[in-house]
Amino acid sequence: MVKIEDYAPIVGDGAIETIKKMAEIIRGEKAVHVNATSYGGGVAEILNRTVPLARALGIDVSWQTLKGDTDFFTVTKKMHNALQGDQDVSIPSEEFGMYLKVNDENASVLDLDADVVVIHDPQPLPLIRHRKRGKWAWRCHIDTSTPNNAVWSMLEPMVRMYDLTIFSMERYIPKGLPVPAIIDYPTIDPLAPKNASMKPEEITRVLERYGVDPDRPLIGQVARFDPWKNPMGAIDVFRKVRSAVPGVQLAMIGAFAKDDPEGAEWHERVVKYVGMDKDIFVLSNLDGVGDLEVNAFQRAFSVALQLSKREGFGLTVTEALWKGVPVVATRAGGIPLQVIDGTTGFLTDGIDDAAGKTVLLLRRPWLARELGEGGKDHVRLNFLITNGLSNYLRMHIELVGKMG
Ligand code: UDP
Repeated sequence: MVKIEDYAPIVGDGAIETIKKMAEIIRGEKAVHVNATSYGGGVAEILNRTVPLARALGIDVSWQTLKGDTDFFTVTKKMHNALQGDQDVSIPSEEFGMYLKVNDENASVLDLDADVVVIHDPQPLPLIRHRKRGKWAWRCHIDTSTPNNAVWSMLEPMVRMYDLTIFSMERYIPKGLPVPAIIDYPTIDPLAPKNASMKPEEITRVLERYGVDPDRPLIGQVARFDPWKNPMGAIDVFRKVRSAVPGVQLAMIGAFAKDDPEGAEWHERVVKYVGMDKDIFVLSNLDGVGDLEVNAFQRAFSVALQLSKREGFGLTVTEALWKGVPVVATRAGGIPLQVIDGTTGFLTDGIDDAAGKTVLLLRRPWLARELGEGGKDHVRLNFLITNGLSNYLRMHIELVGKMG
């Protein structure tokens, strides 16, 4: 079982002591996290690791997920897209009514009786209407800097019912929101199978299993099959890179999240766009690509790409940096906090620029190594689960008023 002490060799004894002291203050308190899916996407990834660690510290935390059908998740994905800035989305009142009703049904089976309840993203937002007690926080993982105002105004009255809101960046906080807001950066777990160190022969075995040549350079993008992740952009970059560096290969790794009905359609589009290109590998959890395989691929990348058009934060960027892999990425959302241009990777302005910078890194392994080391240090200081857990404990302590 996971223990906080296991992280001491990575983050130092001081950080572990602070976490233990904070946990002591709220030992025995009950907390609940609710999100839309137990698999796929960054939120499930974070909760999957943080909740057991908090439990190991003596906090009675549970993680519960919503039940909904495809119609429900189609509406909530539309909301997600609208909050990320898609101005063409509209939610008719019968769809909004169904969204509320599914949440009402879930409220009758979920255990929401806790000292602190944290609701993640828009899907379970309406559960606040069923609060019986406790402090409630809404953790929004989406880039809400330019929301579709029509959709936001449908959701905002419910957001106002919360005691606290949490966003990944300052500029995501909606203007005029009369609820306190704090910033929390998403974090990764260095000891999770997704990120733990691997033996070179294990990495080679994974590559060979999928027909990737371990002796030729590999670049790749790990992301859900989703328009905002810009998979076609990553493929365009690769094709330009290959004309300068023959022999290079591309892995497009994407999972199908349970709450993302657009995944299948976008997977199909990507496969079509790739055509018969034998140097591009489109793989997903349906091909058996789980945490260990994602870990192996990320470690095998000479350069990780993240061509996202919108990105709340982008755990995949942090994951690559932690593995000492330089990242070539767009300036979307939180990425500029992760990719420090020229220090942990390169920020790019378009396909040609991204291709040029990728070629540069492929031709100069010493530079790639330098940026990769910079990335690892940057993640160690800022984006590990111990930072996330500290922030979470502090929030809990403040919400229940147990400060000093
Ligand atoms: N992921 C995965 N397999 C895939 C694609 C993604 O396990 O094929 C994981 C990825 O490693 C990361 C998470 O899903 O931990 C995606 O989180 P991120 O914040 O990058 O994006 P989101 O999907 O939440 O928009």
